[in-house]
Amino acid sequence: MQQPMPPYPNHDPHHPPRRRLTRAEMRRRRRRRAIRRMAVLLGALALVAGGVSFAVTRLQADVPSASAASPAPVEGTGAVSSGVQNGTGAAGGTSTAAGTAESTDPAQPQNALGLTAAEAAAMLADPRMVLVNHQVPMPEDYTFDTKECGSATAINKTLQTEAADAFLEMQAAAAADGITVWMQSGYRSVEYQTTLYNNKTQQFLNQGYDEAAAREMAANIVNPPRYSEHNCGLAADLNCPEFTALEPGFEDTAAFDWLCQHAGGYGFILRYPKGEAAEAVTEITYEPWHWRYVGPENAARINASGLIFEQYIAELQSIAAAV
Ligand SMILES: [Zn+2]
Repeated sequence: MQQPMPPYPNHDPHHPPRRRLTRAEMRRRRRRRAIRRMAVLLGALALVAGGVSFAVTRLQADVPSASAASPAPVEGTGAVSSGVQNGTGAAGGTSTAAGTAESTDPAQPQNALGLTAAEAAAMLADPRMVLVNHQVPMPEDYTFDTKECGSATAINKTLQTEAADAFLEMQAAAAADGITVWMQSGYRSVEYQTTLYNNKTQQFLNQGYDEAAAREMAANIVNPPRYSEHNCGLAADLNCPEFTALEPGFEDTAAFDWLCQHAGGYGFILRYPKGEAAEAVTEITYEPWHWRYVGPENAARINASGLIFEQYIAELQSIAAAV
């Protein structure tokens, strides 16, 4: 059985080709990631163990002094105070009781994102949270309206209407701070993507490659249709008058600094962050110019989590499934 062709995320042909990690690089990174994951897991276990022992120590240390200071139990701590009066055994009992209360309280989700299964499911169902990458195509039934918000030199000037409005608002806020931000490449239709991809495939066929090889080589340069985040109208390549290329040097501009501080408030997240750990997840080299609209509430949650979009979606799926 032939392997599915590796779809390859890329931008317009007039943009410098995005570099996808080689297979060897990916293998090395996966190995390092597995080691890192194990270290994080062990660290988390140590933290939990440390936290429990810290909590018990605190209960043992604090409560007696509190009850010594005020003979009448302070409101809400009565049970703890009276428990501790019976000695260390009771303190242990109290901590167990608190643990049980926490884990059975449905209002207190016990996961890293602090979301209930229903909240996670709602976020996954939010069309602004659609995941599109070189492994996950945009759903066939994903539809939306678009609105223009691109700069004069932009080729693809539109985004989904809500994202375009958010961008224009963000652009105005940046301008008020003396910063010019341009939307240089936004929504790309599936038809447009198909044409780009077929043209590129044809170039390799013309050079004598067979169909499979031509498609694979084309996919290294142009994303197959529906595998580009630009197809969903929520990805915006941004630049500024001081740096009009879509290249890593954009990170040295005042516009990029401004975006890092403020874009989340307008619903945009940096989709392909810098660093080996991030690149191992996205499988895309750092792109300071590529911002993804998810809506302000979702952006706040994702940014607070410190997770890459792929990781955040996986986390949501696991929380939503654990009902
Ligand atoms: Zn892009």
